[in-house]
Amino acid sequence: MGSAVTTQVLELENYVDGAWRRANASEFAEVTNPATAELLGRTPLSSPADVDAAVRAAAAAFPAWRRTPPGERIQYLFRLKNLLEENIDELARIITTENGKTFAEAKAEMRRSIENVEVACGIPMLMQGYNLEDVTAGVDEMQIRQPLGVVAAIVPFNFPAMVPYWFLPYAIACGNTFILKPSERVPLSMRRAFELLEKTGLPRGVVNLVNGGREVVNALCDHPQVRAISFVGSTPVAKHVYTRSAAGGKRMQCQGGAKNHVIVLPDADMELATQIISDSAFGCAGQRCLAVSVAVTVGDAQKSFRDSIAHAASKIHVGNGLEPGVQMGPVITKESKQRIEGLINAGVAEGAKPLLDGRNTKIPKYEAGNFLTPTVLDGLPSTSQLAHTEIFGPVLSLIHADSVDEAMEFLRRSPYGNQASLFTTSGSAARKFRYEAPAGNIGINIGVAAPMAYFPFSGWKESFFGILHGQGRDAVEFFTESKIVIERWSRQETRKF
Ligand code: NAD
Repeated sequence: MGSAVTTQVLELENYVDGAWRRANASEFAEVTNPATAELLGRTPLSSPADVDAAVRAAAAAFPAWRRTPPGERIQYLFRLKNLLEENIDELARIITTENGKTFAEAKAEMRRSIENVEVACGIPMLMQGYNLEDVTAGVDEMQIRQPLGVVAAIVPFNFPAMVPYWFLPYAIACGNTFILKPSERVPLSMRRAFELLEKTGLPRGVVNLVNGGREVVNALCDHPQVRAISFVGSTPVAKHVYTRSAAGGKRMQCQGGAKNHVIVLPDADMELATQIISDSAFGCAGQRCLAVSVAVTVGDAQKSFRDSIAHAASKIHVGNGLEPGVQMGPVITKESKQRIEGLINAGVAEGAKPLLDGRNTKIPKYEAGNFLTPTVLDGLPSTSQLAHTEIFGPVLSLIHADSVDEAMEFLRRSPYGNQASLFTTSGSAARKFRYEAPAGNIGINIGVAAPMAYFPFSGWKESFFGILHGQGRDAVEFFTESKIVIERWSRQETRKF
């Protein structure tokens, strides 16, 4: 398989049992460059038979892989880390080409991907259980962790590389075998990743890639040999995967959509707040699940923040993310652009005033691209529908509150709980916020509170379905089953007492 960023249309293949295979597909999804509309490839919408072949390959590989000592399993991940480092620029270019985010953002995404591989290299310690001698005289008890078997991950378009790495390294380091279903809109990053995985010499069947859409997802949910599913995507699909997989008794972690709020207090460092909130709202064209979507200003913060954020957002250079100096790329598809413009219309109809209006943007040389420029909607009523609707585009709404309690009440009404942030210079305000904010990832003077790989990614409410999150120690618990062993070896020891 070719490895360079391709300009020719390519029909993607699946990677099953250590070999690239044509999918059994009659339908294809087009993969286009969001900045240029160039057709990059066709994703096969694989069939349940393709899923079954991958599950059988993964199940066949499992017994030998789980018996491979953890210290040996991680040697493949060390090799993967080195290959990712060596190829980071090429991988970042692929991300930009298929997803649209800037090259710098794509490289940052790769850094976070690599960080997850590094953390999973700690499995020989992270996977250890615990024990206690003499729970009764001469009897010892221990807890050990064992892999589950075949596990699968289903991922979204917005981080074509990083989200798969929230799961893959931990799953295989723990001794499971793995199936990935990438987003059909951005399959090229994982195609290249699997070429690199192949170079690590991993035994066949340990990692498998099945391209496709809804049918593949449903087949994974229904397959009796798939023990666990990790899902990241929109809330309706997260709920669907959660309930459908539950019917088969699977273990699940399903991360859903988001609507993230930041509260700006009058005592905040306004320059810092402006710069960081602007990066959060408009970075990756607002297509981050931790992007700030609503800023709630309290008291006197209203005027100073409104003026400074509109000014900062107006300076953002929008264009093709591969070009130097570009700070914001396009959104993923034409349909996304239309949907986002429709939501801006809805906000205006509900009473918001656009301080900056990114609708109907055309970027010279890239007229066919899916571009919007940053949009700032001032005075969105806190009771409006848009105040609680995920936009997933470069739109920041401003809402005003007379007090912190009023701002917090607004946050509590949000159906989502992925992230909440506060900008302040007051320790007690920060402490109160940390204590009360109804979200799983909290930022204090932070715009994108993305947990490092060694902490779990802790969404709440409609942003997460399950118990154990991705990354960190949660990942190790999710990908292992706990076994308790109680042992007696000596009659004499028992009799003594
Ligand atoms: P999506 O829900 O459309 O797709 C996610 C995955 O589900 C894809 O692999 C897709 O093929 C599959 N899918 C789509 N529709 C399906 C259906 N009807 N039945 C079965 N499978 C289906 O999400 P997206 O547009 O790719 O990604 C954007 C969404 O992901 C946003 O809502 C964003 O907030 C969310 N997201 C959340 C997190 C998080 O950590 N909570 C992280 C990244 C993205």
